[in-house]
Amino acid sequence: MTYRAPVADIAFALEHASGFGPALAEGLYGDLSQDVVQAVLEEAGRFAGDVLAPLNVAGDRHGTPFKDGAVATAPGWKDAYRAWAQAGWNGLAAPAQWGGQDLPQAVNAACIEMWNSAALAFGLGPVLTMAGVDALVVHGSDELKRAYLPKLVSGEWMGTMQLTEPQAGSDVGALRTRAERAGDGSYRITGQKIFITYGEHDLTDNIIHLVLARLPDAPEGTRGISLFLVPKFLLNPDGSLGARNDVRAHSIEHKLGIHASPTCTMVYGDNGGATGFLIGEENRGMACMFTMMNQARLSVALQGVAIAERATQQALAYARERKQGRVGGAQSGSSPIIAHPDVKRMLLTMRALTRAARAICYATAVALDRAQRSPDEAARKAAHERASLLTPVAKAFSTDIGTEVASLGVQVHGGMGYVEETGAAQHYRDARITPIYEGTNGIQAIDLVTRKLPLAGGATVRAHIGEIRRTVAAVDATNDPALGWTGVRLRDAVDSLERATNWLLGGQHNDLDPALAGATPYLRLFALATGGALLAQEALAAKRLAGNDEDAAARIALARFFAENMAVQAGALERTVVEGADSVNRADAALA
Ligand SMILES: Cc1cc2nc3c(=O)[nH]c(=O)nc-3n(C[C@H](O)[C@H](O)[C@H](O)COP(=O)(O)OP(=O)(O)OC[C@H]3O[C@@H](n4cnc5c(N)ncnc54)[C@H](O)[C@@H]3O)c2cc1C
Repeated sequence: MTYRAPVADIAFALEHASGFGPALAEGLYGDLSQDVVQAVLEEAGRFAGDVLAPLNVAGDRHGTPFKDGAVATAPGWKDAYRAWAQAGWNGLAAPAQWGGQDLPQAVNAACIEMWNSAALAFGLGPVLTMAGVDALVVHGSDELKRAYLPKLVSGEWMGTMQLTEPQAGSDVGALRTRAERAGDGSYRITGQKIFITYGEHDLTDNIIHLVLARLPDAPEGTRGISLFLVPKFLLNPDGSLGARNDVRAHSIEHKLGIHASPTCTMVYGDNGGATGFLIGEENRGMACMFTMMNQARLSVALQGVAIAERATQQALAYARERKQGRVGGAQSGSSPIIAHPDVKRMLLTMRALTRAARAICYATAVALDRAQRSPDEAARKAAHERASLLTPVAKAFSTDIGTEVASLGVQVHGGMGYVEETGAAQHYRDARITPIYEGTNGIQAIDLVTRKLPLAGGATVRAHIGEIRRTVAAVDATNDPALGWTGVRLRDAVDSLERATNWLLGGQHNDLDPALAGATPYLRLFALATGGALLAQEALAAKRLAGNDEDAAARIALARFFAENMAVQAGALERTVVEGADSVNRADAALA
């Protein structure tokens, strides 16, 4: 089963759930028209389905063989990458000044979803290049920008993002890679990085590593980290490729999934140190990294949506074909398994979680666009805070549900899901990394609770809760019996979210431990209330646009399913946050 990009759903979520429609209408994107957006989405869908999706299984089987320091990507990958870059997809949202198309992050987000649905291991590479472009645009010197941005934006070169070391994973501040001032303005980098995605490969002639390292006189922890650009090949004065830099891939990992994406151990300084160029200021590397990380975290969130969409498509197709048992008094023959209520529940859960996560991700992208493009400074600041609030929710929820949905996809296939030939197992294996990299989901939840809820003195989260309440009121105002208990259940959910938020913000707990213990259930509660409201918004929009046609009926049914089957978990999650956290901190004996 291959992938067909759900362009109509994607466009609908963009326009009616994310806030993109109003932003376009009010001129946030200049003279960009809906027609152009639609054409971009359709073309991306075609490329993803026709060119990338067929590479997915072959890439998984081939992996990335490593020999004499070189990585060979799977047959067809290089050509596909070149065609993809030449079509301009890498620079879709990059500044026009550097050869990009300056299109909205929201449109790029939709495209990133499609590349990753088609082949997650392929989509992952450009995600890192795009994040590197963002960091260089904001923090790089003019000289670095001129030398590196045009080819990174066009995709002629790819980028990497290098934080992790054996002793420094979630604790980035523990990193030890050293950077010594060379006297000519450059730096000599020595040390080792592990788990580096696309650290070595044959897709492009040069690879531009963005590397975190520590100066000899740097303060301890994250306040002593600097960011360096370290090219695989140094550049001659005319910009052509020069000498090989003193950095190499030492080995690659053998992984559960994303086999077609090389994950490398990188060694710096066999011959005295790789030449690196400072990005931003010394010891201010974390600020640069945060610019990259917001973009990269949203992209990984979109990977969660992407794999969930792909797994759902595959499970639906299988459930329509596979026949077992008889349903609903059928006299002869067996029924397709989709007719069994339990299978139907699995499929609806898959679809509802996927659509909710998609809406949350696109809403985050629109907030990023507003933070960048709003003419008014106060509006830019508020949008930046909203994007900051939503980013950890988008990352953790979407990648958690990506894994859950892919697992359900295996379940719908029964035994055929557990063997490799259907492809359902690959989605599950590929999905599993997404809650881990780009900041584990536990770290996202802690970020949400400790740093994002207090933003603007709590005003950012309260504004968000207010928005959910407005959607609930709009649902109530319809009095539409087809929406069942949607309004009631979403009101319960947002009430739970508000109480749990107040508890966390109010410091009613005496120390930080209960808040940290409740962070993950709080993030889920936040996402369920938000996702439920955004799906309800889609249902209301469909109803408004088309009365009672098939699309409106489908969206209403899905919003109702989500509210009555998933948003109802909010009450239990609230209790887990407020009451259950205490039992976490009193249960050490149970782990003895
Ligand atoms: C396939 C793959 C690709 C990767 N690509 C890259 C890349 O391109 N660049 C790069 O720099 N890195 C990359 N990574 C590394 C990845 O980002 C890290 O694995 C991740 O950040 C977690 O770090 P760790 O593995 O050291 O786990 P640890 O930090 O040891 O965490 C283990 C567990 O403890 C929890 N934990 C740790 N600290 C805390 C805390 N303070 N509070 C609560 N819980 C905590 C974590 O949530 C996790 O559940 C990649 C990893 C893989 C597997």
